[in-house]
Amino acid sequence: MNISIQILSIGNELLEGQIVNTNATFVSSKLYAEGYVVQNQQTVADQPKLLIESMRSSLENFQVTICSGGLGPTLDDITLKAASECFESDFIFNEKFFEELKCKFQHLSVPNLDRFAYIPKKAKIFNNFLGMAPGFFFKKGKKLFILLPGVPYEFEHLVEKEVLPLLKELFPLKSKEHKKVIHLCRVAESAIAPYIEELAKNSPQVDFGIYPKLGIVSVHVKCKATSQANANQHIDPIIKLLKNKYPKRYFSGKFKSIQDALHHLFIRKKWTVSFAESCTGGALSAQFTQIPNASKYFMGSIIAYQNRVKNKQLGVLNSTLENEGAVSELCAKEMALGANKLFQTDLSFVTTGVAGPKGGTKNKPVGTVWIACSKKNKILFNKKIEVRGSRRVIIQRTILYLLAEFWMMRDNA
Ligand code: ATP
Ligand code: MG
Repeated sequence: MNISIQILSIGNELLEGQIVNTNATFVSSKLYAEGYVVQNQQTVADQPKLLIESMRSSLENFQVTICSGGLGPTLDDITLKAASECFESDFIFNEKFFEELKCKFQHLSVPNLDRFAYIPKKAKIFNNFLGMAPGFFFKKGKKLFILLPGVPYEFEHLVEKEVLPLLKELFPLKSKEHKKVIHLCRVAESAIAPYIEELAKNSPQVDFGIYPKLGIVSVHVKCKATSQANANQHIDPIIKLLKNKYPKRYFSGKFKSIQDALHHLFIRKKWTVSFAESCTGGALSAQFTQIPNASKYFMGSIIAYQNRVKNKQLGVLNSTLENEGAVSELCAKEMALGANKLFQTDLSFVTTGVAGPKGGTKNKPVGTVWIACSKKNKILFNKKIEVRGSRRVIIQRTILYLLAEFWMMRDNA
């Protein structure tokens, strides 16, 4: 059975861009993992008329609505009142709930605690052990309408402890969507799209998602089935075709990022690694050291930002810096060999470039970057790239380009 679900996020702070809507993402991903696919997300202001309209429309168009926010005691918390209007339910004093509140909050001497115990007659309560405002749900025919507090850890707790079990009980699923992911580096979305269309035409049981992110495209291959094994019968041949089409460029979806894929490769190959970073200013090293166990291969880095450091620490020749400049082929090479020697590593990776927004010249505009990699005192590759974007994007694209370049030649390294 397919059920339609909408997430209704409530709160001005979401619409003013003050906070990120983590609740919607959290509940959508938890639901998806259990086989329930959310069709729609909507965000509404703390305005009674708008909210009631949105709730009525959600109730009409979706089997399940999950609301987040506006259940607390402050003036802008109008969610429960709006819902009670939609369901034409009076508020009545709930003795049992009041007793529970007294037990829970007796040590806090909360003024007028009894006002929290007035609850819409038609609502059922989800006990919230982590906060004051409980969650609620209404049932109307086959429709389920859920209200949860906005505080993320309370919301998340109630989703896991109450909402998912209730959904499984009321809307049990026979089959669910299973998926496998494959990442491709340096394949343009527009280049892969026609191929995916062709695959989709020949495999009607399978759905695709293509998600690009700074130089990496992730392809999600999805199939609805009663078990992962059944889904794999349709998914695996497609993954195989994608691997064959991009043998050097793919890395498995079990890795969260190319850094993660390389982390495992370095460990498996027993390669030690160092970095000499100029324009990336340590970001490259930081991204690897965030992964537990990086110490198995990562020996150290030099952030060689100034010429003096490139010369003194890495042995880049003064003549190179004077004649060619820090953003040059020769400088990148000498940095790589210098880092190899200094850290005694199998591999050394280098970035040197103009991250901007100022500092570009006619010959070396902002985004001009040299990357290099040396293995055992020999240059493996050395390349000029022209990167576009803000300073932050140039730094990140440089890192991804460098790592993808190495990934694609890993078998010859
Ligand atoms: P409370 O009892 O704390 O008032 P509440 O149900 O009334 O809970 P809100 O007042 O809407 O919830 O929000 C409480 C806190 O949770 C605020 O800090 C708010 O910014 C945050 N919050 C609300 N909605 C979301 C959301 N969708 N994603 C992430 N944080 C949220
Ligand atoms: Mg509130």
